[in-house]
Amino acid sequence: MDYSSRFSSSLDGRRLVLILGSLYILIAIGRAAVHAMSGTPLIPIFVITIFIGGSGLVLLVGGYRLPVTEVHPRFYSTIAKWCFVGIGTMFVFLTLYHVQPDTSIVEPNRLVPILTGFSAVAGFGIGTNAAKAKTNAFELERQNRKLKQIQDQLEESNKRLEKSNKRLEQFAYAASHDLQEPLRMVSSYLQLIERRYSDEFDEDGREFLEYAISGSERMSSMIEGLLKYSRVDTRGKPLEPVDLDTVLSESLQDLELQIEESNATIEAVALPRVKGDANQLHQLFQNLISNGIEYSGNEPPQIDISAERNGEEWIISVHDRGIGIDSDAQDQIFEVFQRLHSHEEHVGSGIGLALCRRIVERHGGKIWVESEPGEGSTFVFTLPAVTNRKATRNSPPSA
Ligand code: ADP
Repeated sequence: MDYSSRFSSSLDGRRLVLILGSLYILIAIGRAAVHAMSGTPLIPIFVITIFIGGSGLVLLVGGYRLPVTEVHPRFYSTIAKWCFVGIGTMFVFLTLYHVQPDTSIVEPNRLVPILTGFSAVAGFGIGTNAAKAKTNAFELERQNRKLKQIQDQLEESNKRLEKSNKRLEQFAYAASHDLQEPLRMVSSYLQLIERRYSDEFDEDGREFLEYAISGSERMSSMIEGLLKYSRVDTRGKPLEPVDLDTVLSESLQDLELQIEESNATIEAVALPRVKGDANQLHQLFQNLISNGIEYSGNEPPQIDISAERNGEEWIISVHDRGIGIDSDAQDQIFEVFQRLHSHEEHVGSGIGLALCRRIVERHGGKIWVESEPGEGSTFVFTLPAVTNRKATRNSPPSA
């Protein structure tokens, strides 16, 4: 900050402009009074008064209205500084003009206040623009600082998230190795007991043993599910163009036995290429189709898969004509270990849909279900489209 703005800011820039404006009005009135008393005709007095007083009035109103403009108060001093620069420059010009040998200012008491008044107003205009520019730069700087702060916070929470993901992965290792090992021991000894001693058990004993074996099997599949769930982000492959037709047919191969046993019909339109992780999308289709078969009700399962383009994404639907889902439970089923049926009614670990949601979200998409009890369910998810010409060529025919 230079000397003049330090001076004007210490006095408060706006107040200085107001004082300057009042000063010019006072000069105009005082001068008019003196000239009127000395008998000068009224019309020239009036014109000169308007010239000088007008500048004062502009400064007074302009200064008064500063708080309702976009100029930040810290830059009022810039405006005051420019007013003084205007007056000073005019003084220098007039002095130079006056000291020339063959020129001199006639009636300086009239010309000096008029011209310095005009240049103060010009200075006020220039100063206001400069102050507005400074205000904008200041606001920009403030926004930048805020953005930087948000960026730092985001980086911080990203780091925390990464840490918690790492912890989750470590937990998964513990679950897979440390927990599965003793569980395997329990299972194999239970099976040994079944093989060697089941004849010596009475009916109740055999039933209890069966429960224990099936419990340990369930626990093992839950642990395996958790392991997969916790590795979606940490072990996922980079997203790249994937042909969903190929992914689907590989999932169907894995489900061959379930499809055969249940006499299921699976129909699909030609599917597009999307940006994804083929292994995870394989798992996604497998879980949804397997559920469609599992929860098909009494009729042989019938599942239809379709795709629809929506801007930069594909909407994929897996529709079944099964038992349907109550609207109250339609969000809950995507949570880990949330099941709507007992193990006796339907086998399952309760992690399939949670895994589906985690996979879809890793792809930047959403998954939801549209369903009515008894009317079947449609699981819908979005995946990012491959935005090149190949993707358009592979578009499914509009059914
Ligand atoms: P599970 O291993 O129990 O199938 P999921 O996470 O895959 O676990 O599904 C959670 C629950 O959502 C299931 O227990 C079932 O009650 C319900 N569900 C999932 N898919 C369907 C479907 N296609 N039709 C009806 N209910 C379903």
